[in-house]
Amino acid sequence: MTEVIIFLGPPGAGKGTQASRIAEEKNLAHISTGDMLREHVSKNTELGITAKSLLDDGKLVPDSLVIDMLIERLKADDCQNGAILDGFPRTLAQAQSLDEISENFPITKVIVFEAEQNELIKRILHRGETSGRSDDTEESVSVRLDVYQKDTEPLIGYYQENNLTVKINAVGEVDDIYNHLSKEF
Ligand code: AMP
Repeated sequence: MTEVIIFLGPPGAGKGTQASRIAEEKNLAHISTGDMLREHVSKNTELGITAKSLLDDGKLVPDSLVIDMLIERLKADDCQNGAILDGFPRTLAQAQSLDEISENFPITKVIVFEAEQNELIKRILHRGETSGRSDDTEESVSVRLDVYQKDTEPLIGYYQENNLTVKINAVGEVDDIYNHLSKEF
């Protein structure tokens, strides 16, 4: 059985930074579907070729492709001690796909990262100066924030019903947020 912790929140909230730190500290796997997709793009795989323009535009990759990729990833050896999902689920269908495998991969917690839109835009554009990410641009950011509000934010309510959510203020110093967050593990 692999326990799953979900990091849920808008783009630019710092999920990836915190997930990689916590994962290392607590010996958990850090699974970022965005990183996995970017790797596919850079290797020019079939999935990467399909995903590239969607990533660039800030749109979501179709559920079926991401779900299969994620489920395969969860079966890897490094997930045995537990896994942090960073950027998955992003739609109701993705959340339901996790529910279907909950016997082997139970969700123990959903950390909800909260930050204001203006702060997120500022951070992403700043990150874009050095990240080399083709989607850290003004056009793509506004699409990504819209997609988040429409498709992903409703998942907060979905998980609240099961009392799995813990809200965290994602604005402030990385170390302070980390210290706060690590109390949850
Ligand atoms: P991220 O690195 O999490 O910000 O993701 C970057 C991009 O990868 C997103 O804008 C989507 O195009 C794609 N992506 C990542 N995770 C998912 C997902 N769970 N479902 C659909 N698309 C995703």
